[in-house]
Amino acid sequence: MKIDIYRFKLGTFECIAVSDGTFAYPDHSFFVNAPKERLEQVLRRHGMQPGDITTPWTCLFVNTGQDRILVDTGGGPGAALFVPSVGKLLPNLQTEGIAPGDIDMVVLTHGHPDHIGGNTSAEGEPAFPNARYIMWKDEWEFWTSQPDLGQLEVEEEIKQTMLMVARSNLPPIQARLDLVEGEKEISPGIHAIAAPGHTPGHMALLISSGGERLLCISDAVLHPIHLEHPDWYPAFDLLREQAMATRRQLMDRAAAQKALVLGFHFPFPGLGHVIQKGKGWQWQPIETKA
Ligand SMILES: [Zn+2]
Repeated sequence: MKIDIYRFKLGTFECIAVSDGTFAYPDHSFFVNAPKERLEQVLRRHGMQPGDITTPWTCLFVNTGQDRILVDTGGGPGAALFVPSVGKLLPNLQTEGIAPGDIDMVVLTHGHPDHIGGNTSAEGEPAFPNARYIMWKDEWEFWTSQPDLGQLEVEEEIKQTMLMVARSNLPPIQARLDLVEGEKEISPGIHAIAAPGHTPGHMALLISSGGERLLCISDAVLHPIHLEHPDWYPAFDLLREQAMATRRQLMDRAAAQKALVLGFHFPFPGLGHVIQKGKGWQWQPIETKA
């Protein structure tokens, strides 16, 4: 199986989970308040070694027949300079015959560097020349004012990177931007869903076609282990209580509707179902053919 491109159908929609590459995060940054020994046990049970967690930076392409939509833009040329393992979104799309000019709509789930870094080219121009860009209004306003990242439990250097990437990747798309203020259908079958907490205006998408549903949760849950341990939180959630409430709401919805779920940092392709289990949920990844 190719590890960075996964095609699937949702009703009549042609979808591709496409990775921008992978990045290794220190395990404690994903589970800040998890007791160390307990975390090590759980990681081993999931077939992982304590230390770093290598996760994909997944994006989603959807061809609805009417619109060709890209959800998030990966790290882009800026990230690729510092992290050689990322910046592969455009070449991966190219492999599938999709050029930047083919994209009609770019949906930005939130303003973190691994989701907006590819908004612009190395020259600072919009990387998708024919696309409208969509973002939640609160999210745009947060990142384009003076964002207060004081509550984030990450190093100062990471906060500075977040601010710098927002400064270089948001203003250039302003002339092509449509802001979403409340839950609405942004293209036939594609609903923007409020999912705040990870960031103030973090957005999820409910995608429906032919009676099938996909709940694209982006970073509302960063790793399947958060489903089993809903009280373990990552360092990257700015508004922790709100993020936990959002996780509960989205996962209850996904379990009740038996929707397919896509988490952008879950093991690639990040697609699966959730079922209620104990205090949380169990992740059931889809079977991918070799
Ligand atoms: Zn992310």
